[in-house]
Amino acid sequence: MIVGTRKPFAEIRDLVSGHRKILVVGCGTCVAVCLAGGEKEVAILASQLRIALRLVGQDVQVDEAMAERQCDTEFLVDLGSKKDLGDYDIVVSMACGAGVQLFSDVYDQNLVVPALNTVFIGVAEGPGVWTEKCRSCGDCVLGETGGICPVTMCAKGLLNGPCGGARHGKCEVNPELDCAWVKIYDRMSARDNLKSIEKTLPPRKNSRQTHPSVSIHEAYKRRFDKDEKIV
Ligand code: SF4
Ligand code: SF4
Repeated sequence: MIVGTRKPFAEIRDLVSGHRKILVVGCGTCVAVCLAGGEKEVAILASQLRIALRLVGQDVQVDEAMAERQCDTEFLVDLGSKKDLGDYDIVVSMACGAGVQLFSDVYDQNLVVPALNTVFIGVAEGPGVWTEKCRSCGDCVLGETGGICPVTMCAKGLLNGPCGGARHGKCEVNPELDCAWVKIYDRMSARDNLKSIEKTLPPRKNSRQTHPSVSIHEAYKRRFDKDEKIV
């Protein structure tokens, strides 16, 4: 999932300050799960904005809405069929950066600002805790490394580790963290599969990490070859 955290309130307040009709829109998928941009967080932010802006004498209307996914045009169009978005001076999106951008593209007459910082692709470790697991490198090596990502979990992103600085299983860059390559070794050893990490992995194909990237599903490639537009 994509993990986001809410921006400091003062930053959001400054972004919307001076606007009278404000719509706060949450996203029902990743950022709802990580307690940053779901329905409850929308209600909290909307209340905070009402109170803070009225306290400084601004006559504001702050409304709330949810989109199931802001990174999908279909759901944004659905939102627009229920809310008159043209009626608002500014939209505060509580989605990840992708959702904010698609919102701005679909409703380009609206001023759309982010309420979150998008931080990483990760997993839930327990209540309220998420950790990074993937840097979307475009050339996954998990099949070679026992399901532990060296690009993300090793501080140096080494494909062929360890670096020589590991001490007692800890990383030399941050001794509070386990060395990713010691973990990879231990896992492969427990699986009696050390052969898999004896071979040297080739350099990462950085060309696969150009930005902005595009991924087209095999079944849709012909459609793009014909220059058809996505609808
Ligand atoms: S190797 Fe690349 S794609 Fe695979 S988990 Fe790591 S960063 Fe993500
Ligand atoms: S000690 Fe391990 S995790 Fe840390 S930089 Fe070296 S190889 Fe990577």
